[in-house]
Amino acid sequence: MVDLISQYENIKPAVDQAIQHVISNAQFINGPDVSAFQSELESYLGVKHVIPCANGTDALQIALMALGLKPGDEVITPSFTYIATTEVMALLGLKPVFVEVDADTFCIDPEKIRAAITDKTKAIVPVHLYGQAAEMDAIQAIAKEYGLFIVEDNAQAIGSDYHHADGRISKTGTIGDIGCTSFFPSKNLGCYGDGGAICTNKDDLAVKMRMIANHGQSKRYYHDVVGCNSRLDTIQAAVLRIKLKELDNYIDARRKAAEYYDDFFASFPQIKTPARDSKSKHVFHQYTLQLEGLDRNALSAFLAEKEIPSMIYYPVPAHRQKMFSAFGSENTNLPVTDWLTERVLSLPIHTELQQEQLEYICTSVKEFITSTN
Ligand SMILES: *Cc1c(COP(=O)(O)O)cnc(C)c1O
Repeated sequence: MVDLISQYENIKPAVDQAIQHVISNAQFINGPDVSAFQSELESYLGVKHVIPCANGTDALQIALMALGLKPGDEVITPSFTYIATTEVMALLGLKPVFVEVDADTFCIDPEKIRAAITDKTKAIVPVHLYGQAAEMDAIQAIAKEYGLFIVEDNAQAIGSDYHHADGRISKTGTIGDIGCTSFFPSKNLGCYGDGGAICTNKDDLAVKMRMIANHGQSKRYYHDVVGCNSRLDTIQAAVLRIKLKELDNYIDARRKAAEYYDDFFASFPQIKTPARDSKSKHVFHQYTLQLEGLDRNALSAFLAEKEIPSMIYYPVPAHRQKMFSAFGSENTNLPVTDWLTERVLSLPIHTELQQEQLEYICTSVKEFITSTN
């Protein structure tokens, strides 16, 4: 699905040198690259505070810990997302309340949020799924009306822009109270292991989250709140400093590949290509098709025979996971989510896709369609 080896080859001298530098100085924890990366990411995103941490799941957990919620408080979130988004809620004793997504954009449907609000609702966690922003203006309006926090799950959309109705443009992850992202290797800004970051424009939340990520410590050996240990390794920060400079080029490469797919599949009624929301810049963490009347497993197997990977993100929506059975969430009525789960298929998309690879993938899909017609 991604080609991290070719991507590395293109930045090898800089990466090798940066990693060697960290090793030579032996500043593996909280070395100078960590604070440098932090401020570089703050400028890139146009956000006041970035708090690097160990992974995207920790970022979400720390964000929710900082909001001062009580066990049993409810958090509104899509079910059509990676499990990390909602798992951390249950871990903290919060109740995930699953809301439907939009069938075109795959992101939480703001129209459906209002009906899910109760007097226990404290926060909304929208996910910018596959690299395109959720409807943040509408979500912010609802959050304001009901006094709810917004924590954006920006793990798949770092670098994406959101165009507000009033003309402002924000980077995704900087719009709500807190934004969380992941530097898992295959993410759009990926490091060479695990990594993550939290961002916020709010000083008080930044102080709290920094403290939580560092054993609840206010000054050395004084621990004011229960926290955790979540750090970005210096080696990962060194790699990320190099890759952050490439991020916009990486996004362009992904968008070009997506356009190639779009053009090719436009004439196939059996394939619905990903819709673009004019308010958001799609950064194509995934290129996800909706198949209409095609046998998804057969197509995937056909492609696999030709050494073309394809993936289902995600085969089981969160509300149907056994993990949440205590909440009775499998009884939530989410027809769009269930329907999408049955028909999505993601094709390879990454920064190193060559024209001939795209042609090969597309003609292989076409071959399958013509052979089954
Ligand atoms: C990857 C991802 C996460 C978790 O990130 P990790 O770094 O793997 O912990 C959370 N939410 C979404 C939507 C993701 O894609």
